[in-house]
Amino acid sequence: MLAAFLAATAFLCGCRSDVPARPNILLITLDTTRADHIGAYGDRRARTPNLDRLAAGGVLFERAISAAPLTLPAHVSIFTGSYPFAHGVRNNGNFTLSDRVPTLTGALRAAGYRTAAFVSAFVLDRRYGLAAGFERYDDRVELERRGSETAAAASAWLAETSHDPRPFFVWLHLYDPHDPYDPPPSFREAFADRPYDGEIAYDDEAIGTLLERLQQLGVGQSTLVAVAGDHGESLGEHGEATHGLFVYESVVKIPMILSGAGRSRAGRRVRALVRSIDLAPTLLAAANVPALRGAQGRNLLPLVDGREAGPGEAYSET
Ligand SMILES: [Zn+2]
Repeated sequence: MLAAFLAATAFLCGCRSDVPARPNILLITLDTTRADHIGAYGDRRARTPNLDRLAAGGVLFERAISAAPLTLPAHVSIFTGSYPFAHGVRNNGNFTLSDRVPTLTGALRAAGYRTAAFVSAFVLDRRYGLAAGFERYDDRVELERRGSETAAAASAWLAETSHDPRPFFVWLHLYDPHDPYDPPPSFREAFADRPYDGEIAYDDEAIGTLLERLQQLGVGQSTLVAVAGDHGESLGEHGEATHGLFVYESVVKIPMILSGAGRSRAGRRVRALVRSIDLAPTLLAAANVPALRGAQGRNLLPLVDGREAGPGEAYSET
């Protein structure tokens, strides 16, 4: 009787047998990375084989919009599933996320995940509130650090804690494409005429190294990998050199890729407008963890499966 009930429940919830009930989750946020400078988004000159592979084997959202073109508010929106006017963090530096606002990290920790974050810029220092819920929050950063160093720290933690039977939630933040564009030597030469793209290529390589480590640790198949930009970069469009002043598409359109959410979803490209605030609800749904109280974003898996329309509109502020 119990077995029959469980079987019926599994059928009703639409769970995919190739996704573990509690998958590991790796969230990679790409600072200042424009979607249209990534191969999978159509940039033929890009050198982003690892992001392209994740997209080819996962779900790529063609039109994803950030809640703000500023690092801290944009990240807080990703982690809370809410817009800045709701979570209260509306700029870098002089706002701190309240510990009363529920986060992706807190929900996963409560559901039994071991949690660790590795950030690459001071703007995400623990003092700004995103460390809540993380057992390890590695913000050993002067102003910024190279992506390969941050990825190596994440890699080391994964290896050190691999005996832990709990699933992991790891957040890796890569900052290199942020101004100034100054990629390491080999990338500087290969991308002499477009150093911004060189920084993106360099971060792609750091991602590749971390994904390889997941394979070595035997968890490559049981890990959900989510990639999201925090905001884009104007690169001179609309008279803006970098980001933060305006909310044109150049700065609010972001890459968003979800890999490992089931074989039937592999290779999907979603045209509908979606939002960075939808990422946390989607990851929690994929991990069978209850939704965040008060979140404004929504689970995108029904949209990916063609069972629901997208949210239809997106808000962004600066
Ligand atoms: Zn940023």
